[in-house]
Amino acid sequence: MGRIIVGCWDCQYCGTCRISGDLRECPNCGRPRDENVTFYIADPANYAKDPDKVSREADWVCAYCDSLNPASQTICQSCGAARDKETQDYFQNKSRREQQEAERARQKQEADAAAGKAAKNSAGRAAKNASGDSYSPPKRKRVRFLVLAILAAVIALIVFLGIPRQKTLEIASCGWERTVEVQLYTEMEESSWELPDGAYDITRRSEIYGYESVFDHYETRTRQVAEQVFDGYDTSVSYRDLGNGHFEEIENRTPRYRTEYHSETYQEPIYRQEPIYRTKYYYLIMRWITDHYETTTGEDSEPYFAAVEVSSVCREGAKTESYWIVDAEGKTYKAEYEIWKNLSAGQKIRAKVQLGKILEIE
Ligand SMILES: [Zn+2]
Ligand SMILES: [Zn+2]
Repeated sequence: MGRIIVGCWDCQYCGTCRISGDLRECPNCGRPRDENVTFYIADPANYAKDPDKVSREADWVCAYCDSLNPASQTICQSCGAARDKETQDYFQNKSRREQQEAERARQKQEADAAAGKAAKNSAGRAAKNASGDSYSPPKRKRVRFLVLAILAAVIALIVFLGIPRQKTLEIASCGWERTVEVQLYTEMEESSWELPDGAYDITRRSEIYGYESVFDHYETRTRQVAEQVFDGYDTSVSYRDLGNGHFEEIENRTPRYRTEYHSETYQEPIYRQEPIYRTKYYYLIMRWITDHYETTTGEDSEPYFAAVEVSSVCREGAKTESYWIVDAEGKTYKAEYEIWKNLSAGQKIRAKVQLGKILEIE
């Protein structure tokens, strides 16, 4: 049980403040404290001289004259009415008052909001009338609209360029280019951890393939270890309202810790890096290697690949080909061979074109 503090209350009728909590009636006007009173602490050191005689129970509110009475009394000390089922104690009465206040605050807020909205609307209408009905959107909206418009234009342009379209082309000239890779069967010097088929003239050498960690020994080392050590209590004080003009002092204790460091020794395993040896092969081997490319080109309608003299040490590799026409304006259009072979200089054609390439002709 904590110590008991004598609190205060203010008289609602004559305005006297800091009336001692152990007085039921105002020393100035003589009226009893009533349901609108709130007890408070003015001096936390004002301890009750005889705490055993102080009640731990809250006052009750007389249902007839609203005055506060001590819990030990069964009839009102002001009007003589009996304490009955309808009487509330100090705390029940206080929470009812607080609920009423919260409700009033909410209603006022709603009313203010409604009034503010109405004022804003009428101001808006006035501004609109003043500007002669020419409504201009806020600046930020206009910037956003502009950005969206530019984005849409860029997308439209990309789509527009990619759409295949019909064109009339006057063919001024045709062209082609064909390339063939020439490969030679060549002796190569190589080395590897695995010996491939066909290797010859082989030399073997033991070489370092990699490293592995091998445990060597333990080393004794020290390190700092943190420890939480109890360091006494932190105390704080709070007050419990007894609802009868008095308060109970409550001491709260929370344990406090400090961090202490000490060093301890431990065994650290030490590893060494040991090389792993393997057999590496050095050898000669025959490989097909790109030697060069043969390119042929022309403006006629008879494309051909350069002739490669194939033998046991020479062969053809990859082949590439491309075909095009140039129109009267000097623009070049590519085409697949199957389309290109039907075209010749002097022709006027209707063709479907996409990104500089002829897709089909009519
Ligand atoms: Zn008074
Ligand atoms: Zn009464």
